[in-house]
Amino acid sequence: MLINGEWLNDTRAFPVFNPATGEEIGQVADGTAQDAARAVDAASAALPAWMNETAYARSAVLDRAYQLMLEQQRELAELMTREQGKPLKASMNEVKYAADFLLWFAEEAKRVYGETIPSARSDQRFLVQKQAVGVVAAVTPWNYPVSMLTRKLGPALAAGCTVVLKPAESTPLCAIAVFKIFEEAGLPSGVANLVTASDPKPIGEVFCTHPAVRKLTFTGSTPVGKHLAQACAPQLKRVSMELGGHAPFIVYDDADPVHAAKGVSLVKFLNTGQACISPNRIFVQRRILDPFLETLQTRVGGMQAGDGMDPANSIGPLINEAAIDKVDRQVQDAVSHGATLLAGGSRLTEGGLDRGCFYDATLLSDVTPEMLIYREETFGPVAAVVPFDDEDDVIAMANDTDYGLAAYIYTQNLARALRTFEQLQFGIIGINDINPTSAAAPFGGMKESGLGREGAREGIEEYLETKLGGLSI
Ligand code: ADP
Repeated sequence: MLINGEWLNDTRAFPVFNPATGEEIGQVADGTAQDAARAVDAASAALPAWMNETAYARSAVLDRAYQLMLEQQRELAELMTREQGKPLKASMNEVKYAADFLLWFAEEAKRVYGETIPSARSDQRFLVQKQAVGVVAAVTPWNYPVSMLTRKLGPALAAGCTVVLKPAESTPLCAIAVFKIFEEAGLPSGVANLVTASDPKPIGEVFCTHPAVRKLTFTGSTPVGKHLAQACAPQLKRVSMELGGHAPFIVYDDADPVHAAKGVSLVKFLNTGQACISPNRIFVQRRILDPFLETLQTRVGGMQAGDGMDPANSIGPLINEAAIDKVDRQVQDAVSHGATLLAGGSRLTEGGLDRGCFYDATLLSDVTPEMLIYREETFGPVAAVVPFDDEDDVIAMANDTDYGLAAYIYTQNLARALRTFEQLQFGIIGINDINPTSAAAPFGGMKESGLGREGAREGIEEYLETKLGGLSI
């Protein structure tokens, strides 16, 4: 834990495990509600000085953190693979993506523009300035244990806010490494504080009720997000919520089925399916279903699961036993309701994989709305294919979910692409593209997938208040 510039290691601790091997890889301070409150007080005390720094000074710290993160890319990636499980190449990519947010917001810090507005009164002028929201509490997940931190810390610090962050209990070591980078970059004491804890509830309670916290930014599951947003409501704290998804991936019959299947195989199994923008329902127009499935089956069948430190493995472990159970329950439910199992379908235990949480890359076809997998977020290596016949039907099916985060469209017909893009109720849409994310692009969901946007120009707005001055002259 880092509170007011001081690392606290001599308190009660909890263990961190490698999900690929079950091995303990570290012990981390187990923070309490009192620690969280002290961290908020430290952030509150550090706020006036940080807010009144020039944007150029804040930008310089973020820029140094960006450089340091790139210098430490390999080290951080190895730690991430050991702590979270994703293949090393994916960890390297994530560290780069994480660093991009630091650079982007180092730049945006200098572009927090105000405005002057003409008045109807000749003796009046309106002056509008943007000002830091204040102390920000942040709660982050384990699936992207570095980039989800910088996507919040970057804009919050750029805007002049001070922060208390609680990382997920499975990946606190990555969070510690990120905070060490900020310390090395010269961030003043108390400006960013880290509270690690094995039980998130008491920390969350302090974040939502401490009067000094003016904003809560959360990435995680929809139920927890709703709970925290409700807990913030009595004090009308600002909230940003990046929550679950249930992405439709629509492949029209004018698309190249082989190209589309390759795209699905890449994006679906990224991070072993543990991503909120992972395709959860793959809608394929019936005329091209066979060649699509043939390519996907070959690809999925050829995926090798194992420790992410071995470059031969493209599928890492799931984060824990509960994740394995959820995935298996969805697969068994789908098969018992008539889905066709084309690859995988069970936990992997051979060759030492029983020590970790491995599930075979799985392909299901003939998935229907009655199945759990059609509605519940999967968060695992399971591709679920739903055949369809007609454009209007598929748009209605795609929108038939409470989630609204990411969606994907494959078609060669520009008009159809635009029609579908405009009708889908999702915040992020890839059109013949499986990676519609970047520090420069707004990330966020509609409906129960969240509130607010991260990254892009919008990302810093989430940490700013608008202040109006009306002047009589
Ligand atoms: P997941 O299912 O992906 O683990 P969660 O929403 O449970 O998603 O976790 C995301 C983050 O939310 C983690 O940092 C976790 O510790 C935190 N969290 C979970 N429950 C609470 C809670 N009641 N209060 C505050 N934080 C919580």
